[in-house]
Amino acid sequence: MDSLVLAQTGSEVTRPTFWRIGHLGEAIFYYLSAVAIAFFLFGVYERFATYARGTDSWFDRLDDLPGRVLGAAKIVFTNEKQFDRDLYAGVMHAFVLWGFLTLFIGTTILAIDMDVWTKGLGQDSFFVGNFYLSYSLVMDAMGLLFVVGVGMAIYRRYWVREGRLWGKHTSTEDDLFVWTLFLLGVGGYLTEGVRILGTSQFRNVSFETVSFVGWFVRDVLELAGVTPGMAEAAYPVVWWSHSLLALAFVATIPYAKPFHMISSFANVVTRDEKAGKRLPGVPDDASPEEIGHGSIEDFSWKELLDHDACTKCGRCSSVCPAKASGRPLDPRDVILDLKQYREDLDAGRTDEQPIVADGGTSVVDSETMESCMSCMACMDACPVEIEHVEQFTGMNRRLTESGQMDANVQDAMMNVFQNGNTFGEPERKRPDWADELDFEVPDAREEPVEYLWYVGDYPSFDERNRKIARSLATIFEASGVDYGILYEDEQTAGNDVRRVGEEGLYEMLVEDNATAIRDCEYDNIVCTDPHSYNTFRNEYPEFDDCDWDEDDVFHYTQVIEDLFRAGQLGLSGTELDYAVTYHDPCHLGRYNGEFEAPREIVAGTGCELSEMPRNREDSFCCGGGGGGLWMDFDEDPKPSEERLREALEDTDAGSRVEKFVVACPMCMTMYEDGRKTGGFEDDLEIVDVAELLVEAIGETERVEVSD
Ligand code: SF4
Ligand code: SF4
Repeated sequence: MDSLVLAQTGSEVTRPTFWRIGHLGEAIFYYLSAVAIAFFLFGVYERFATYARGTDSWFDRLDDLPGRVLGAAKIVFTNEKQFDRDLYAGVMHAFVLWGFLTLFIGTTILAIDMDVWTKGLGQDSFFVGNFYLSYSLVMDAMGLLFVVGVGMAIYRRYWVREGRLWGKHTSTEDDLFVWTLFLLGVGGYLTEGVRILGTSQFRNVSFETVSFVGWFVRDVLELAGVTPGMAEAAYPVVWWSHSLLALAFVATIPYAKPFHMISSFANVVTRDEKAGKRLPGVPDDASPEEIGHGSIEDFSWKELLDHDACTKCGRCSSVCPAKASGRPLDPRDVILDLKQYREDLDAGRTDEQPIVADGGTSVVDSETMESCMSCMACMDACPVEIEHVEQFTGMNRRLTESGQMDANVQDAMMNVFQNGNTFGEPERKRPDWADELDFEVPDAREEPVEYLWYVGDYPSFDERNRKIARSLATIFEASGVDYGILYEDEQTAGNDVRRVGEEGLYEMLVEDNATAIRDCEYDNIVCTDPHSYNTFRNEYPEFDDCDWDEDDVFHYTQVIEDLFRAGQLGLSGTELDYAVTYHDPCHLGRYNGEFEAPREIVAGTGCELSEMPRNREDSFCCGGGGGGLWMDFDEDPKPSEERLREALEDTDAGSRVEKFVVACPMCMTMYEDGRKTGGFEDDLEIVDVAELLVEAIGETERVEVSD
């Protein structure tokens, strides 16, 4: 590179800007640039003015702004969400993003040199010599990445026709976006190649080999018989075509799909790390008509931004268990239906409609919202941090307040209201599960305990799940844990009551449970059920009645893992040798990041653990969350049946898998059902981690009850 600079020093090692464009052309270019930027700025202003109409304070999501921006930059620039589950998409998006950003920064540097440094400040251009050579090399290399990335996108969209990229809202804007990027990338190289060839008749252009792609285009043109004179004549046409396309692109960014370059980043900056697992409350003074999302005015500014941030990538839809089982829900469609409705309403293309209703004309059908299992797979998969579950709960709240709740869920809610449990059993029967144990379960209301054990509805009332409660009590006894329960003072924790939209009832449960717990002397709370664990950990501490922090709440597998580590739980019984697989419950894994404690326990029992392809964050919901346990759906296949098939066909152990291990009583109920309806009864058994462990410590007989 040095020799090139020495051979042709100073201002000659550069490229002529506005070559063959003339002063008039230059003036027109500046005028059009100003128009394009004005269109761009106005469009961005209009978008953000729309978000300003949303509810909630802007400041709720803008605390520690520098930290938020840095966190978002890490997520966006590493493309970590795009790489997740899809290497091809990660490479493609990284090439496009890094290439685009480099070209954008390079163009800005050139503009600063021309318009600020040289014309504005009267300095000599720095766009010469080694700077120019380095600049050209980097721009050509990164531009190539950009073109390759866009080419990969085109191949996948039009050749492979990747299913998740196509959907109800696929439109011309998607085609225009990808092809415009391609033409911009290729057009840039064509402009460069024509310029190098054209200017070669006046000067030595050998240093331009650093622009290796442009030089390659020059060679191709030469081979095709294009002379330097012909290139000089064609250059203004090529340059204007490229420039006008670039300016049109800039002007239309806020009005179509390219806006995701701005809205997606803003969405990641303003993300809530606890979205979904900690739902927003309802203001104390809200009237019934004001509760939930009944009209577009009820959406928060972040939710409106969510709609615009959607890139239509279809990742959420591809992992949604409701969609996979044929329920009438596609999370991408819901987000984009809401966006479409708002835009149509603003443009006067539609009349006002209810956002969600049972039958009739509404933006979203009630059955669509009832189909959601609150599993958070969509949110985990979304590369731009769209918070589906928060919006869906808002719509469920509206259905509840307007008396349009599913009849089965209504029954369950009535049971909770009258008896404090979803089974409609008298409160006094709650501790009956412990009757057949050969020891007394300590009463946390009567004595101080280290662990206050919240047993939960299913382990208390459901016959199959009572064995889990007895197993866990036996393990606590065997390992000398200082624990106690609330007996009949315990009530449904309310995690799913809240998620089906019954906020008033949920608040009542919080008050009752928090008051009962506050009256006890305890250090920590331990839950059998991941749903209770989630709400006790992430939601209860937001209420004044509650006297604990999130760090005080544990799932039982976490406590047992600690017992293992402390040597308090010796596996002196039978070493098990079952071939098993483990299903991550949504509320333990994806919601709260606990993946390893249950696995450590399973491995500790001696079982051979094989993973299903969809494990940890990618786990597939059993179908019971979000009130699914109480509803009847036409499903094909049921999520639980699909998951049991996965266990038998797609693990390393394959059909050797004898036990399907769960760590959630709701999962137990759903999988016991799927085992029967799917015809898997002879193939495998459903067991809870606690049941496996109680067998490993040789205490199974103590938890069995005679019929
Ligand atoms: S929370 Fe689960 S069921 Fe609901 S839309 Fe998202 S992926 Fe689908
Ligand atoms: S909501 Fe997120 S995951 Fe779903 S299509 Fe939009 S950007 Fe993709």
